[in-house]
Amino acid sequence: MKIIESTDAAHAHVRRRTGKSVLVPTMGALHRGHLELIRVAREHAGNAGEVAVSIFVNPLQFEPGSDFEKYPRPESADEKFCEDAGVNLLFRPRQMYFDDRSVYVEETRLSAGLCGASRPGHFQGVCTVVAKLFNLLAPAATVFGEKDYQQLAVIRRMVRDLNFPIEIIGVPTVREADGLALSSRNQYLSADERAAAPALYQAMLRVKELAAGGENSVSKLIDVAKEVVSPAKRARIDYITIVDAENLEPLENLRPNALIALAVFVGETRLIDNLRLT
Ligand code: AMP
Repeated sequence: MKIIESTDAAHAHVRRRTGKSVLVPTMGALHRGHLELIRVAREHAGNAGEVAVSIFVNPLQFEPGSDFEKYPRPESADEKFCEDAGVNLLFRPRQMYFDDRSVYVEETRLSAGLCGASRPGHFQGVCTVVAKLFNLLAPAATVFGEKDYQQLAVIRRMVRDLNFPIEIIGVPTVREADGLALSSRNQYLSADERAAAPALYQAMLRVKELAAGGENSVSKLIDVAKEVVSPAKRARIDYITIVDAENLEPLENLRPNALIALAVFVGETRLIDNLRLT
């Protein structure tokens, strides 16, 4: 596995590279969710192709007061994880931004609601770093998790609107046995909080059941989700919403392509999840 830690070395690598490259962008603290992305990347790259993983905890996407400083950075464990997973290139840049940077990439429609409303500047940070990674590593394809559904939608839109010649591949959410979506942030949870965290998935499943049974009123469905999440220990709802899975607009009544998305603080830890309803 080749490790690259500077943007100059990334450019040099790409100039010499032959064959198809598939990129998996991450912030590290790698887990089975990331492993699934790497597996799908290999499927698309083929044995002769390159699977590239980037690890960069991107300061631009952390709003003030959030967990940038304490975000886990287990560098040697992540390196071994990538090696064992058959990754060809690990890109872990030490420096991504100029101190006097003045250009950002912003998606202005899909970023407005959901996490974008609670985390001002977050998606501008995501788009800016992902655009830079695309320019630095010039992948033919890139793999993102559906766990961060809004992020996937925003990146698809950025690639479409800015004509990046890159295929975007979405991967279904990998969960623990009790339904909790795997996340690097789960390690912040205390034992009590960890026990409460599956309430997010249980709420979404309950809503899906009711939707399958014919309940069509979004406000009623959201009330049910709130009834499941609220009693969970140390849970505080940031948002629970049902949107159109394409344009992320809130729905009043269920129709095809409905998606429930939620963000819930369990203790100090903000967890997000989503599920297709129809
Ligand atoms: P992160 O390191 O949390 O920024 O995530 C890097 C990539 O892994 C993103 O595309 C995430 O959507 C994806 N990812 C994170 N957790 C999961 C999961 N449980 N299942 C599938 N993909 C995931």
